[in-house]
Amino acid sequence: MKCRVCRGEAFVKLPAHNAAFCPEHFDAFFLRQVARAIKKYRMLPPGGRVVVALSGGKDSLVTALVLHRLGYQVEGLFVDLGILEGDFSPASRQACEEFCAAHGVPLRVYSLAAEFGRGIPDIARRYPRICALCGVTKRHVMNEYTLAVGADALATGHTLDDMAAALFANLLRWDLHYLAKGLPVLPAEEGFAKKIKPLALQAENEIRAFAALHEIRPVEAVCPYAAEAKFKRYKRVLNELEEKSPGLKRAFYEGYTQQAHRFKEETARPPLVTCAVCGLPATNSPCTFCRIWRDAT
Ligand code: SF4
Ligand code: ZN
Ligand code: ZN
Repeated sequence: MKCRVCRGEAFVKLPAHNAAFCPEHFDAFFLRQVARAIKKYRMLPPGGRVVVALSGGKDSLVTALVLHRLGYQVEGLFVDLGILEGDFSPASRQACEEFCAAHGVPLRVYSLAAEFGRGIPDIARRYPRICALCGVTKRHVMNEYTLAVGADALATGHTLDDMAAALFANLLRWDLHYLAKGLPVLPAEEGFAKKIKPLALQAENEIRAFAALHEIRPVEAVCPYAAEAKFKRYKRVLNELEEKSPGLKRAFYEGYTQQAHRFKEETARPPLVTCAVCGLPATNSPCTFCRIWRDAT
């Protein structure tokens, strides 16, 4: 297997692109692909300021590294959930700290314990659907932080596999609300920072190869509350199809991005009010975040 560019020994084979690359040319190829997606979907202005939501997993760390190398002003944000079981939060935090120190990326750690004197395990005793509340918590903190520092956008590490699997699941259910929101960019609105997914067109195998190439060491600990990964069976089906038709996943998702406006017009968003505590838009006041963490009633 030879590199498409230099004919040297290939390090990675990418059937979806009908190509193989040596380490150097794969690196250049990967950066170019992400740069193209950022431009195509108008994610960031050149040299723009971006907060990257870091979890300690490979996808978010790769997102931060690519944006940093493409010349954006990157700041990592890690939300410490205070989950000590299985060393989950401390190990995740350490993975982020080591990555940021190695690559010269500033890191902000937002600790629930430091802010509110408790973490996710304390809340889990009271609320059975802890992942939903954990999601609300992370999204709130990240949005509020991105607005507070005045960054151009908040980036998350969602991959092509995540986006295609969610699209597949939402299409099977004809869930118009989510079908309207599956784009790699959600524009800024009053009280909402712009949200971007720079790896939305990069497949898992490409991201894994890029992480290995740059010796990114993601956290290995698994959250004790994690149920079966979301959309796992949809990913499996898409991967089986991809094996027979390389490039199918990307064509499926990219095709959707051209059609997403059709769903938008069909979707009525619930009316928003302003949370009396944090001042951000929400469906109720106080918002769920302020009710849980600030004991607002
Ligand atoms: Fe939070 Fe659930 Fe993810 Fe654990 S598995 S980090 S509780 S969303
Ligand atoms: Zn090469
Ligand atoms: Zn609030």
